[in-house]
Amino acid sequence: MAFPKIKHVRAFVVRGGGADYHDQGDGHWIDDHIATPMSRYPEYRQSRQSFGINVLGTLVVEIEAADGTIGFAVTTGGEPAAYVVEKHLSRFLEGRDPSEVEKIWDQMYFSTQYYGRKGLVVNAISGVDLALYDLLGKLRQEPVYALLGGKVRDELTFYATGARPDLAKQMGFIGGKMPLHHGPAEGEEGLRKNIEELATMRERCGEDFWLMFDCWMALDLNYAVKLAHKAHEYGLKWIEEALSPDDYWGYRDLKKKAPAGMLVTTGEHEATRWGFRMLLEMECCDIIQPDVGWCGGVTELIKIANLADSKGVMMIPHGSSVYSYHFVITRHNSPFAEFLMMAPKADEVVPMFHPQLIGEPVPVNGKLKLSDAPGFGVELNREVGLHRPYAR
Ligand SMILES: [Mg+2]
Repeated sequence: MAFPKIKHVRAFVVRGGGADYHDQGDGHWIDDHIATPMSRYPEYRQSRQSFGINVLGTLVVEIEAADGTIGFAVTTGGEPAAYVVEKHLSRFLEGRDPSEVEKIWDQMYFSTQYYGRKGLVVNAISGVDLALYDLLGKLRQEPVYALLGGKVRDELTFYATGARPDLAKQMGFIGGKMPLHHGPAEGEEGLRKNIEELATMRERCGEDFWLMFDCWMALDLNYAVKLAHKAHEYGLKWIEEALSPDDYWGYRDLKKKAPAGMLVTTGEHEATRWGFRMLLEMECCDIIQPDVGWCGGVTELIKIANLADSKGVMMIPHGSSVYSYHFVITRHNSPFAEFLMMAPKADEVVPMFHPQLIGEPVPVNGKLKLSDAPGFGVELNREVGLHRPYAR
């Protein structure tokens, strides 16, 4: 099958929610005294926006083929990622055959390795890789899940992340993951408040509903072990991203010291097959949670997921809407998916990347059947104010 060559790569920046889901207005649960590594500083404790969590904004990558077909994707990384895409990565795509995904990925990664490897540069690579998969799906007239080997189940099943697991239960989700509100700097009183919040939700949700804590890298090993054991009394299903993503040794010890039956999960801020190999070989966790928009895109997630599968570890991607749904539906070791509750009070289901995608599907009763529209099955909302800072 001959494909039209890639004609042009464009990178845009968008503000206001969407893929940079921390970029919300005042009064949103996602910015209400959530424990972070910055919580040790009282002046940065109440709001994550106060230390700049939303400083980057969304990156939109568009790849146009010679026949006018456009693939696109959204992720985080904003203006600096747009610079990397336009000034550096575009050379590995323009004039090339869009089906050369492995070669293009390899060239993007190794050409930036001296300043990349993780973080922002791999976000940019992920955005390009996802846009390339969207383009390939549109050129082949196939959904991305078909390019990845096809569905292994009819529909996706979701747990909800947000401040109101009790409401998530009523909306049909299988579990609710709450942000941890108090970090080690808030001492025994903070720890007691964390446990009280869990106890309240257990009371409201009943015995069988999954409840989890997302600790967003905020804890130290001692605090995490203490929290896990106290939370075990209330049936906490998993403790997520308790420690710094660089502290592989801490995760290894946390997994050994966590109560039997409680899962240790992490990997949201990890990247590439090499980063996840560390987590898997050091036996750091029971579930890895790569974000397909941050870990290297679909091309890299295939390798990460295969490593996890060979170790008997579940791979439940972090958020990322349609970009992870098309992957999860093709994998036996991804039996359910995450849904981020982006309504400010977490009291209704709204599209995760609103308002950037047109046709973004949402779960109904905690379930979702994916459409067979080509690519990732969504279109870019051009009304959101696309800014192209490094136009060529
Ligand atoms: Mg998380």
